[in-house]
Amino acid sequence: MKPAPFAWHAPEELAAALALKAVHGGEARFLAGGQSLVPAMNFRVAQPAVLVDLNRVATLDKLEFAEDGTLVIGAMCRYRRIERDAGVLRRLPLLAEALAEVAHPQIRTRGTLAGNLCHADPASEMPAVMLALDARFVLRRQGGEREVAARDFFLGPLATALAEDEILAEIHIPALPPGTGTAFLEVARRRGDYAMMGVAAVLQRGPDGRCVVARLALCSAGPTPVAAERAAASLVGTRLAAADFVAPAAQAAREIDPMGSVQASPAFQRHLACVLVPRVLALAAERAA
Ligand SMILES: Cc1cc2nc3c(=O)[nH]c(=O)nc-3n(C[C@H](O)[C@H](O)[C@H](O)COP(=O)(O)OP(=O)(O)OC[C@H]3O[C@@H](n4cnc5c(N)ncnc54)[C@H](O)[C@@H]3O)c2cc1C
Repeated sequence: MKPAPFAWHAPEELAAALALKAVHGGEARFLAGGQSLVPAMNFRVAQPAVLVDLNRVATLDKLEFAEDGTLVIGAMCRYRRIERDAGVLRRLPLLAEALAEVAHPQIRTRGTLAGNLCHADPASEMPAVMLALDARFVLRRQGGEREVAARDFFLGPLATALAEDEILAEIHIPALPPGTGTAFLEVARRRGDYAMMGVAAVLQRGPDGRCVVARLALCSAGPTPVAAERAAASLVGTRLAAADFVAPAAQAAREIDPMGSVQASPAFQRHLACVLVPRVLALAAERAA
C-alpha cells in the first residue's frame, strides 16, 4: 500500500515545527516514531497533506528527573530509552513494566510515548498507566503553553484534548512517595499484541501499613482509558490483604465500559477485569510493603 501524496517538512527547531502546524492546522500531522501514523497513511485511513517530522528536533528527545523528582519525558523520547533507563527502573518501575507489554522491541525502538498518547488508542497500555501515575501533559503551540492532566486528555477513541495547532511537548510524571508499590498486568492473545484487558495499580501504605492512596486504571476498558475511582477509593484504609481486593474487583468491573473486539466480547473483558484486578493489587501491595 502507498500513502496519498503529502508534503514533508523536517525542521530542526520546535519553533519552526509549531509555526508549520499553526499555518497548516488539521491538514498537517506531526510525525514521531511513525509506528501508528505510517501504517494509517499506507492504508489511507489517514491522508494528511503535510507531515511535520519531529525527528530532527533534538530538544524534544528529553528524559530527565527534575529536582522535585518529577520525571520529564520529551515528545521524541522513544519507548526503548524509557524502559532501559536506570532512574526509571528504580523510581518509576511501573513505566518499564508496562512498556514491556507494548508491541515488540523493534517498534519500541522507534515509537515514542508522546506519539502513543496522541494516537489515543483505547486498547493501548500507556494511557492507562498515565492515569495511574497521575501524569500531566504540557501542550505547546506557537506563542502559548498549557498543562492538562492525563485524566482530562483522552476524549474518545483516537481523540484527545490537543488543539489543531498544539504539540504534546512534555509528559510530567510525579515522584512516587515512599511506601508506594505499583504493578501492571494484562491479558493479550500473544505477547506484544494490544491487550484484551490491562490494569495498572498504584498503592501507597501509611506508617501503620494501611492503604493511604490507591489508583487503578484500565485499558481496553472503554472508549478511553478508565480510572476505576470508586474501586480505588474503597481500598483506602484497608490493610491491603487478599480479602480487601474482592469488592474492588467487582466494583472496577462495574466502572468500565468495554467495547468488545474480534478477540473478546465485552462480557469476557469484564471477566478479565475481575480476574486481573485482585492480582495486580496483590502485586502492588506486596511491593508497597
Ligand atoms: C505491529 C504493531 C504492534 C503494536 N502494538 C502495540 C501495543 O501492543 N500497544 C500499544 O500501545 N501500541 C502498539 N502499537 C502502536 C505503537 O505503540 C506506536 O508507536 C504508537 O502508538 C505511536 O507512537 P509513534 O511515536 O510511532 O507515533 P506516530 O505514529 O508518529 O504518531 C501517532 C499519532 O500521534 C501524532 N503525534 C505524534 N507525536 C505527537 C506529539 N508530540 N504531539 C502531537 N501529536 C503527535 C501523530 O501526528 C499521529 O497522529 C503497535 C504498533 C505496531 C506497528
